[in-house]
Amino acid sequence: MGKKGTIFIVSGPSGAGKSTILNEILKTFPNLVYSVSYTTRSPRSNERNGVHYHFISKDIFLEKITGGEWAEWAEVHGQFYGTLAGDLNRAIDTGLDVILDIDVKGAKQLKTSYPEAVLIFITPPSMEKLRERLIKRGTDTPEEIERRLINAQKEMSVIDKYHYVIINDRLDQAISELKRIIERYHADKKVGTSIRHPSCA
Ligand code: ADP
Ligand code: 5GP
Repeated sequence: MGKKGTIFIVSGPSGAGKSTILNEILKTFPNLVYSVSYTTRSPRSNERNGVHYHFISKDIFLEKITGGEWAEWAEVHGQFYGTLAGDLNRAIDTGLDVILDIDVKGAKQLKTSYPEAVLIFITPPSMEKLRERLIKRGTDTPEEIERRLINAQKEMSVIDKYHYVIINDRLDQAISELKRIIERYHADKKVGTSIRHPSCA
C-alpha cells in the first residue's frame, strides 16, 4: 500500500479567519483536500450543501453517533458538528493530505485516534479584532456574536496543546505561515522547528 496522507487539523475561535486562510491554501496544494464537515446548523446565505458543510438534521446526526460513524464530533455554539470516519479514512488511504477546520474538542478526539495528525491553531491578534471581524462578516446575530466571543476565551485556553500557532493579523503573512507548515510535511513529513510553538511538548 502507498503512503498515507497527512491530517492537518486547524482550530481557532470563530471569526479568527480560518475559512479565509484555508480557501487560499487549498488553491496552492493539489494533493490537499478539505474535509467537509456535517452540521445541524442552518446554511448561511453564501454556503452550499456538500461544499462548505453537509447540512443534516439533528435526528440523522444522533443516529450516526449511535452507529459509531463519527471520527469526531462536538456540540459547538449549540449545534452539532462532525467528521465522518469513512470520509477521512478514504482520503488518507488514497494518499491525499486532508485539512480540517474543527473545534478544540473535536481536535482532541482526532489526536487520540490519529496521533500523527498535525495540530494548528489560528488566533486573532486580539479579542477586540475578533469582535470587529465577526461584526464585519455580518453572518451572525449580535447574540450569536456574544456567544462566539465567550466560546473564544475557552478555546484559547487550550492553545498550548497545538503544534503550531498562527496569529492572523496580516492575512498574507498568516497564509504564508500555514503554507510553510504544510510544505514542510510535503517535503519530508517531519516536524520542523522554526515556527513551532514554544510551549509544544
Ligand atoms: P472563521 O472561518 O475562523 O470563522 P472567517 O474566515 O470567516 O473566520 O473570517 C472572519 C472575517 O474576518 C471575514 O469577514 C474575513 O474576511 C475577515 N478576515 C479574515 N482574516 C482577516 C485579517 N487578517 N484581517 C482582517 N480581516 C480578516
Ligand atoms: P461555523 O458555524 O462558524 O461554521 O463553525 C463553528 C465552529 O465549528 C468552528 O469552530 C469550526 O471549527 C467548528 N467545526 C466545523 N466543523 C466541525 C466538525 O466537523 N467538528 C467539530 N468538532 N467542529 C467543527
